[in-house]
Amino acid sequence: MGATGGGDTLRRVLAATWTTADAATWWTRAHGDDDRNLLVAYFSMEFGVDERLPIYSGGLGVLAGDHLKGAADLGLPLVGVGLLYRGGYFEQGLDAEGGQTEHYVPIDPAARGLELEPVTVEIELPDRTITANVWRKDVRSVPLYLLECDWLTDALYGGDREHRLRQELLLGVGGVRALAALGVEATVFHMNEGHSAFLALERVRTLVENGAARDEAIEQVRRTTVFTTHTPVAAGNEVFSEKEVVRFVGDIAEDAGFDEDALLALGRFGDNGFGLTPFALRLSSHANGVSRLHGEVARDMWESLWPDRNGHAPPIGHVTNGVHLGTWIEPRLDALLRSARVRTGASPDEAGWNAVDGIDPAALWEVHAAARTRLAEVAGLDPSMLIIGFARRFATYKRAGLVFSDLERLLALPVQVVVGGKAHPQDADGKEVLQRVVELARSPETRGHVVFLENYDIGLAQTLIPGCDVWLNNPRRPLEASGTSGMKAAVNGVLNLSVLDGWWAEAYDSAYGWAIAGESDEADAEQLYRLLEHEVVPTYYGDRERWIGMMKASIRNLAPRFSIHRALIEYVDGYYLPAAPQR
Ligand SMILES: *Cc1c(COP(=O)(O)O)cnc(C)c1O
Repeated sequence: MGATGGGDTLRRVLAATWTTADAATWWTRAHGDDDRNLLVAYFSMEFGVDERLPIYSGGLGVLAGDHLKGAADLGLPLVGVGLLYRGGYFEQGLDAEGGQTEHYVPIDPAARGLELEPVTVEIELPDRTITANVWRKDVRSVPLYLLECDWLTDALYGGDREHRLRQELLLGVGGVRALAALGVEATVFHMNEGHSAFLALERVRTLVENGAARDEAIEQVRRTTVFTTHTPVAAGNEVFSEKEVVRFVGDIAEDAGFDEDALLALGRFGDNGFGLTPFALRLSSHANGVSRLHGEVARDMWESLWPDRNGHAPPIGHVTNGVHLGTWIEPRLDALLRSARVRTGASPDEAGWNAVDGIDPAALWEVHAAARTRLAEVAGLDPSMLIIGFARRFATYKRAGLVFSDLERLLALPVQVVVGGKAHPQDADGKEVLQRVVELARSPETRGHVVFLENYDIGLAQTLIPGCDVWLNNPRRPLEASGTSGMKAAVNGVLNLSVLDGWWAEAYDSAYGWAIAGESDEADAEQLYRLLEHEVVPTYYGDRERWIGMMKASIRNLAPRFSIHRALIEYVDGYYLPAAPQR
């Protein structure tokens, strides 16, 4: 399933013209005369820039794609660096038992607008040399460089631990070498999650090769490196065995001036092997989590890395994620906002969104009903019955089964639940939850109430999210570092019903949504059902005026605050400029 309806072309045009009103970019207006020399190299294992280029698996990659699009809107000097997986991320199917099937469909780079750069990159490993091509995809003014080596970049998150480690060496070490070969003189390196952390080691190595003392080189690299940690979940903080690291990274580390012990010390945390998150934190002076709450959680989690703090908090801040409004506001709603003179331009101008108040409620409802009808067609739902959406990766902490924990109680309500999402190919527990939900959706008992949509991706998300009335998110607190699909819902006037975790812990207000405390599975399920029975359903069917008022409040308050532009400006002011050298 990848149906996206006829809004596709319109959507692409809108995304491209999102900021034409701003003749000079935000960057030149705000920082054109700065004495800082800024060119950010933004490294990520995944990029979700385009649903037809499936080199992302979920929120991390979509965020990275939105980061590039927002940087282009704002005129930021930034390039992206990633990997081109020739098989991409898998397309999800379902077998007769409801289990997930995985198909890797080869990507044709030329058809996806990629151009081959005239450089190659080599990394000598003990058993084999990696030789990689460099492809370029322009996200308008922002180039995205993607490294590719046939036997290594076969698929995103396929293969064993060694395969992953080699891929991560290609991203980090190879990415730095690619930029040098291309003559891109980046001054600030942003590691989006620990996967790219070996870039710091390669930069130290280069400085040492050019005559710097090792500790000086480390300091210089730390000063100019930004690291964003994205999850407190163990599986998301990658750990390799010390043996693997010595084998594959030892030679590069030696050239950078680290013997085995010194290398291993950089990744040590407890007796857990070699962790990429501690490694990245030790090699960057600028670090952040991705929501206010996650910033606190990350400081607690990693505080023992800074034993000499003298009572000061560990140096991890936060920048709450945002979403690219040009990508995620549904095209007809976008047109309505423009006709109401809502200022949706490139800087997050909160006052510019007040004009949402003046929109004719009937017009807003009509636009929303059209989106709901389109989703109902795709999903086989009844467009006159309230639709609750739940779609995201099937990681167990996200508790996709919670809303079904008392099926009788759910089915007694006039609501439909539409579910989507892929399980990580190696996550057996996630796959099991997925299978249970699919079985449930297929059972005659839930007919007309529960639907599972296969192959959740950016294209499906663009139809699914705006077509829902309520967006449900019920992770186990505080494991959802940010969550971004709720932001995509909010900016479309889809009301959030969510655990007070991640972004919702700072965004929630009863004027435009509902909150679940996030305590235990039982308590959260009880609160979820109570809210559905006593708030959501009665308001939706009994007080449409109030509902539409909440939709407006959601758009007006949350679109400027959870726009990627706001997040990018915080990165510029709090991270990129402080990391940039003087001109
Ligand atoms: C936004 C998005 C996500 C992230 O959703 P969360 O609610 O943050 O987990 C995952 N997959 C796709 C396709 C998305 O568009």
